[in-house]
Amino acid sequence: MAVEQSLILIKPDGLVKSLTGNIISKMSETELKIVGAKIVQVTKELAEEHYHHLREEKFFDELIKYIMGEYHTKRVLAMVYHGENAIKLVRKIVGVTDPERAEPISIRGKYGRVTRAGVFENVVHASENTKEAEREIKLWFRPDELVYTLYPTEIKNVKIDKVFWK
Ligand code: UDP
Ligand code: MG
Repeated sequence: MAVEQSLILIKPDGLVKSLTGNIISKMSETELKIVGAKIVQVTKELAEEHYHHLREEKFFDELIKYIMGEYHTKRVLAMVYHGENAIKLVRKIVGVTDPERAEPISIRGKYGRVTRAGVFENVVHASENTKEAEREIKLWFRPDELVYTLYPTEIKNVKIDKVFWK
């Protein structure tokens, strides 16, 4: 089995329903390590890039509003889990996409719902395969936000404005 990483998002419905603790406890059954975590206010650009493979779907606009927190709270908790067989272990505990079809004991089966607009409010995101995990982790995290250097990095000399505490 290969050592992998997976991007997990606790979506706005998960946060507003105070499910963070339950989800992280359940995820600990995988014995994977959390190597990065942060609360993010999702911009339209980030949302559309994250779900770019679904842009032709009729539920796309609703999905973007959902992940940006229009219906719950404008926050998601983004985390990177790392360890052997991470992708499959996480997807198993998370359950399948449609909460009505997900195993009742999975996170989505327990806490998800289907809205009348047809969106699956399924509480968490989990990367589908190693290629998607790499794309997603690089989209959500900078190298210095992870405790392990999961992918090759390079040093660039750039002049940028940064915010500091006064
Ligand atoms: N989604 C939806 N209706 C669908 C398919 C997907 O509302 O018919 C939403 C759902 O929130 C899902 C997200 O779009 O988690 C991304 O879809 P994907 O097919 O990548 O499923 P996932 O990888 O999240 O299981
Ligand atoms: Mg997916």
